[in-house]
Amino acid sequence: MSSLPPHDGDPAVRDFRREIRAWLAAHWEGERKTRHMSLPFKMRGWDAEFSHLLGQKGWIGLGWPKAAGGGGRSPWEQLAFIEEMHYAQAPIFYHNSAETIVGPAIIKYGTPDQKSEYLPAILRGELSFALHYSEPEAGSDLASLRTSARRDGEDWIINGQKLWSTGGDKAEHSWLAVRTDPNATPKHAGISVFLMPLRSPGITIRPSMAMYGKTFSATFYDNVRISSRLMVGPVNGGWQVITDALAAERVMIGTMVAQLQRVFDRLTEYVKVGTIGDRVLRSDALVRDRIAELGAEIEVARQFVLRNARLVEEGKTPLYEAAMSKVFIGELQERLGEAALDLLGSGGLLSEEAPSAPVGELEQVLRHSIMGVIGGGTSEMQRNAIAIRGLGLPRATR
Ligand SMILES: Cc1cc2nc3c(=O)[nH]c(=O)nc-3n(C[C@H](O)[C@H](O)[C@H](O)COP(=O)(O)OP(=O)(O)OC[C@H]3O[C@@H](n4cnc5c(N)ncnc54)[C@H](O)[C@@H]3O)c2cc1C
Repeated sequence: MSSLPPHDGDPAVRDFRREIRAWLAAHWEGERKTRHMSLPFKMRGWDAEFSHLLGQKGWIGLGWPKAAGGGGRSPWEQLAFIEEMHYAQAPIFYHNSAETIVGPAIIKYGTPDQKSEYLPAILRGELSFALHYSEPEAGSDLASLRTSARRDGEDWIINGQKLWSTGGDKAEHSWLAVRTDPNATPKHAGISVFLMPLRSPGITIRPSMAMYGKTFSATFYDNVRISSRLMVGPVNGGWQVITDALAAERVMIGTMVAQLQRVFDRLTEYVKVGTIGDRVLRSDALVRDRIAELGAEIEVARQFVLRNARLVEEGKTPLYEAAMSKVFIGELQERLGEAALDLLGSGGLLSEEAPSAPVGELEQVLRHSIMGVIGGGTSEMQRNAIAIRGLGLPRATR
């Protein structure tokens, strides 16, 4: 297991971690995992059946309040859970956005009907969502988005294009940000959010392959009709909903540290026994220094994750705190990937499919790091948020 200390001071957390491992041994390790890991890389991590199993066990929405049907678990229990899932490479991405982004937004802003329809289904692991924010001309400056929603009786008619949606070719719904007031000043005052069924007439989805080996999609909305019952939050009041949801996304991206920890442990194991030519890696002072530094950084990253979970538990939205964890963990992913190239030489370039790859997953870590430093908002934008919201610095004037 992990080379880093578990944060399981409380016996209840230790028991929970043991329970998760036993459950994974029975429901994931073995035939199911072997079958899943033999899928093409782009399909891995996405498994509706596994999400249903987790839902049946009551392990989706662990951090949600009990009043909303969630587990009301402590931040330490949540950390133990996500660490064990990522360590075991369990496929949790089918329900992940629904659980960590959409569900909490519905709890806070949804109507009673939305709560009774969507929350139980999310907790059962039966819903998958793609995030439809970005557009060709709206990324960092999300408030300038142009996909429009025009009122038509009790419905809205959507027209426009969304880009870069992770998992957008597989999900059944989108969490859709649209412009409901084209003349709003400021721009963000004219945005609303919908729970959009992606099988609706008028939607065209074009998948592409990202450089890290998974798919994302461009989606075209052509006179797509949606009921006003599926708007989350007030008309033109979507910006606050999105701000909270983006913070939740950044918290979620921060939990990727558990994946990094697994790869880091594999790298450490290799360094203990590996050689490059005549060089014994474990005796090389520079290698030891690099490994120790990465180990310390991963521990710092885990503390960020814990702090975010604690704030959520207190009912707060971690805004600049989520930005801090995202920027640190995204860039740590880059540093870990770069360490592979520096420590393992050309072997660090080999993918996991190559039989002679020293630690194949590391090569993928570097390619995947664009998710950490661009997806969910770029590192530059996170630094802006930390400077302004966290440190009270004035906004840049140019
Ligand atoms: C792996 C991955 C997954 C993604 N998944 C999704 C998804 O599921 N759903 C979705 O909607 N989108 C997704 N995105 C899109 C992502 O949110 C945007 O790419 C991101 O917000 C940046 O927008 P942009 O690409 O338009 O770049 P731009 O906004 O054009 O930025 C270009 C450069 O300028 C910098 N910059 C811009 N404004 C400022 C500023 N004010 N101060 C300092 N620097 C600035 C940026 O940091 C960046 O370096 C994903 C992107 C990636 C790479």
